[in-house]
Amino acid sequence: MSRFRLYPTPAQQASLLEQCKHARCVWNLALEQWSMWTRDKGPTPGYVEQARQLTEARGTFEWLRAGSQTVQQQALRDFDQAVRSFYSGTHRRPTWRKAGLHEGFRIVGSQATRIVTKNRRWAAALVPKVGWVRFRRSRAVPDAKSYRVTRDRSGRWHIAFAVVPEPVPAPDTGEIVGVDRGVAVSAALSTGELLVCPGLSNRAAERLKHLERRLARCCRGSNRRQRVKATIAKLYARAVDRRKDWVEKTSTELARRFDVIRVEDLRIAKMSRRPKPKPDPERPGGYVRNGRRAKAGLNRGMMANGWGELVRRLEQKAPGRVEKVNAAYTSQTCSICGHCAPANRESQAVFRCMACGHEVNADVNAAINIAAGRAVSARRETPARVSPKREPQLTTSA
Ligand SMILES: [Zn+2]
Repeated sequence: MSRFRLYPTPAQQASLLEQCKHARCVWNLALEQWSMWTRDKGPTPGYVEQARQLTEARGTFEWLRAGSQTVQQQALRDFDQAVRSFYSGTHRRPTWRKAGLHEGFRIVGSQATRIVTKNRRWAAALVPKVGWVRFRRSRAVPDAKSYRVTRDRSGRWHIAFAVVPEPVPAPDTGEIVGVDRGVAVSAALSTGELLVCPGLSNRAAERLKHLERRLARCCRGSNRRQRVKATIAKLYARAVDRRKDWVEKTSTELARRFDVIRVEDLRIAKMSRRPKPKPDPERPGGYVRNGRRAKAGLNRGMMANGWGELVRRLEQKAPGRVEKVNAAYTSQTCSICGHCAPANRESQAVFRCMACGHEVNADVNAAINIAAGRAVSARRETPARVSPKREPQLTTSA
């Protein structure tokens, strides 16, 4: 992805929003059809059938015909891709697109290549049914086959060209680094460095709390509510910008400095799910604590830390040099002698080995274990059926 800030005129903004509306409408209809389909109706309509229905609908409805066919068809294609990703198990179920939250559409093919460079600073793209829209040429515009126009919650427009970035060359030193994802500190390297992903500052978080309270008091649909919402969106947008910037810089630096980057193979999607309710054996119908609140806090931290983003970018920038390691027990195992016990973890931050007395930052200790590939499943030494909660065997933990 190569993203540029788009500067549409007010009139263009209105017609861009109209296109976003069409894309969203088509997506939601496709989702409705897919999720409400029952077995007795025959095979579920796929992309081809839905595209045929779209053509039919464009013949009937004037407002749909007024929009670009490419935009509407691509929404169907995107949906088709989402369904396939869902069935292959890499992504979750496609969800509803909401106004104000999911504003965007995709242009492909020859229509996506109509880009002109105006001067050193500005370029323009010919968006179907909208016209030439200027964007800021903050770097060279890539030669791409498709682009996506989006509007974020704070009202900024962007144009993103689909290109795979050039891989960062390896330093060829044979150096291996382990990266552990923490919550208090965003990342610990096996070299002992601690990296912190910037999020909302304390002042901004405080302000956000007040604004959210004010939002709760506003009447639905009032102008004041809209204003408060816009302010909140701006605060969030700034935090997201900071995080993305950190992800880009950190991933480039790691790819440049190390030959092999080992990260833990946490399935973030699985970890972010709600913990199962635990029934209370003494009180029928009652429940004991399952750590849901604690997990919710952790989820927020993980989202803010942008872990998924960092690993994804690392894999793109250093293809073939990122190794995912099974991280079971890396936080309880001593990186010097290999002694593995829960008591080693003195606190969230400090690791003190019960066997050899080695004392170190807990996240750095885990990062060293990850770098060593301790308890690795990448080599497929452990059978796939072994529970991740099982103690690692001597051959892998020593
Ligand atoms: Zn030890």
